[in-house]
Amino acid sequence: MIDWNIQSRAHECQACLKPFVDKQPYHTVLVDAKHEYQRQDVCEPCWTAQFSQGSTERKGFISHWQGVYEAPPAAPPDAIQKETAETLLRKLMEQNDPQYRAASYILAVMLERKRLLKVKAQSNENGTRIFIYEQPKTGDVFTIPDPNLQLNQLEEVQRQVGALLEHGLNPPPAPATEASAAAPQLADEAARA
Ligand SMILES: [Zn+2]
Repeated sequence: MIDWNIQSRAHECQACLKPFVDKQPYHTVLVDAKHEYQRQDVCEPCWTAQFSQGSTERKGFISHWQGVYEAPPAAPPDAIQKETAETLLRKLMEQNDPQYRAASYILAVMLERKRLLKVKAQSNENGTRIFIYEQPKTGDVFTIPDPNLQLNQLEEVQRQVGALLEHGLNPPPAPATEASAAAPQLADEAARA
């Protein structure tokens, strides 16, 4: 089963290791490597010389796209309101807790409608649809399985998302040594949602 994950855009070509510069075109190749999606970002010359030939026939090939590298901004943008859903999605995906699987999917759909995420590819893993979203500014790739929500579950998930957006996820203050240490608080939040 493909898990959720976020893969950041590289800051240098992963073939020749030359740093990307602002506005430089690059190529991303996404492959399924033993049930883990792996992206590789390469510069134009490396793409032409090493990757363009036969890359789409490579075993596990899922998708290829071109992007334009944007150097990270010096200061965070002031669009805090717009970032809330995305920040929450990142936190949920880091937690990788199955109870937030549907909420993550709903957040991704919300962000896609606001054009803050773009669907780059779709694949299928043992009957589960997998959506590959890209955050166009940072180039980060989010791998999100379709939770196959039924209509009667939708309202509850939307309520959960609304509560999370309003109150946040409130991670435990100290890093938990055991995964179970974080569980009671999460259970509380789910009960409140
Ligand atoms: Zn290169």
